[in-house]
Amino acid sequence: VLSVYLPYVCDSTEEEKLVLMDLREVQNPAAQVKATLPCKECEDGKIEFDGQPAQYFAFWR
Ligand SMILES: [Zn+2]
Repeated sequence: VLSVYLPYVCDSTEEEKLVLMDLREVQNPAAQVKATLPCKECEDGKIEFDGQPAQYFAFWR
């Protein structure tokens, strides 16, 4: 697995966004998942990670 799409939800529109995370140089992805990111489509909007990073990367070792 070299990269994964992480599910985020926009605060303003509640639209789901998938954000690509590159895993090639990441040791512990669950610790590096950003809880929030700026929304590219809403001014001053942000998107929130929709889930539990630790659960999401349970497969990771
Ligand atoms: Zn948005």
